[in-house]
Amino acid sequence: MRDILPPETARWRRLNAVFADVVSAAGYGQVITPLIEDVGVFTRIGEATDVVTKELYAFEDRGGRHVSLRPELTASVCRAFAQHRPAALPWKVWYTGPNFRQEKAQRGRYRQFDQVGVEVLGVDDAHLDVEIIALAAEFYQRLGLTQVTLVLNSLGEPEDRAAYVAALETYFADADLSEQSQTTLAKNPLRVLDSKREHDAVAIEGAPQISEFYSDDAAAHFAAVQAGLKRLGIDFVVEPKLVRGLDYYRRTIFEFQGGTLDSAQNALGGGGRYDGLVEALGGPATPGIGFALGVDRTLLACDDEGVFGDVTRPLDVFVVDVVGGQEAAVLTAELRAAGLSADRGYDNRSMKAQMKLANRSEARFAVIVGADELADGTVVVRPMARDAGDQQTIPRTDLISHLKDRS
Ligand code: AMP
Repeated sequence: MRDILPPETARWRRLNAVFADVVSAAGYGQVITPLIEDVGVFTRIGEATDVVTKELYAFEDRGGRHVSLRPELTASVCRAFAQHRPAALPWKVWYTGPNFRQEKAQRGRYRQFDQVGVEVLGVDDAHLDVEIIALAAEFYQRLGLTQVTLVLNSLGEPEDRAAYVAALETYFADADLSEQSQTTLAKNPLRVLDSKREHDAVAIEGAPQISEFYSDDAAAHFAAVQAGLKRLGIDFVVEPKLVRGLDYYRRTIFEFQGGTLDSAQNALGGGGRYDGLVEALGGPATPGIGFALGVDRTLLACDDEGVFGDVTRPLDVFVVDVVGGQEAAVLTAELRAAGLSADRGYDNRSMKAQMKLANRSEARFAVIVGADELADGTVVVRPMARDAGDQQTIPRTDLISHLKDRS
C-alpha cells in the first residue's frame, strides 16, 4: 500500500472528474458502497479465482462477523441491487474507490488500488455492451491515451461455456502443462488459457476455441456487439483466448490493454456480461454487465505516453504582507470568498523571503502590502510571469475587480 501525495493527487481528482463527466453524460448515477462487506459477498465472485482464494483481506470483526475489505466492486454493486431492488430498469450506475487484494506488490500492482467503473443491471441488449465499451474508450481518449487496445471475446451462453470447459479439460489432460497450470486445470480449466508461462505456450496454442461452441443466440449477440463497435469506429481485436476471473461471466468479455506497460501489468481495465451474481446475492435473476478500470495503471500508462501530465492549477494570488500578517489574513479570506485561489507567507518573514515563496508557488500575481500601502489603503499587484506587464499600485477596494479583469 502506498501514499499518494500532491501534486499527484490532483491527477487522481482530475481523472475521476473526467470519468464522472463521461458516465454522467450517459445517464449513469453514482453508487457508494462500503469498503467492508460480509465475506460471503465476495466469495460469490467465484471459488476458483485468486482474488477470492488467496487475496482477500478477510477477518473476523469484534462482533464475530466474518467480513472482508472489498477486492473489487461488481459484487458489492450486485449486493446493493439485490438489497434495494430499484424499480426502474436498467439500473445504470458508476463508482470510484479503493479495493484491496493481498498481492505481490510491484509497479502497477498494489495491495490497495483504485478503480473507476460502471455496472448496468437488468438489460441483455447487445447495444448496451457496445455503449459501455464506448464509454471506456471515450474516457481513455479524453485522458489523451492513444496506445490502448480493446481486446474482445465472447464466452457464449453458460451451456456453450460448459461444453467448452469440458472440451478443454479433455484436451489439456493429455497436454504438456506446467505444474502451476495443472493445478489451475483442476480448479478452473478456462484460466489455463491465461497462463503466460512459456512451458504452456504450445499446449495453449493448439487448444480448442470457444467459437466452435457458440449457440446461435451467443453467436448473434457477439456479431451484434462487433457490428455496433464498428459503427462507432471503435477498433478492437477478437482474442479467443481472453478469459476473465469471474465465474459468472457469459457472452461478451473485454479488456483494455496499454501498449507501453510491462505485459504482466498491461491490463488497464476490463469487464463483461454476467448472469447469476444478483441471484446468488439474494436478488431476482438479473442480467448484468460492467467494467472496472484501474486508476493506478491508467495513470502509469499516461506517464508512459507522456499525456495527462501535471494538472495542478496554479494559484491566482500569493499575498506578501510585510506589516505583520493581519492584512494577508484578511486579503486571502476576501480573495478566496470571491472565487480566486490565494495563499500567503507566514511568520512575518522578510519581503525577499516572501517573494521567493510567491515565486515558488507559481501564482499569477503577487499582492504586496507594505507600510506605505497600509497607510494609503492600497496594494501593489505584481504580475509574476516575466512578460505579463508591470506592477501597479491600486486602491485596496479595487483589488478583486482588478484581478478578475486580468484573469
Ligand atoms: P479486475 O477487477 O481484476 O478485472 O481488474 C480490473 C483492473 O483493475 C485491472 O485491469 C487493473 O488495471 C486494475 N487492477 C487490478 N488489480 C490491481 C492491483 N493489484 N493493483 C493495481 N491495479 C489493479
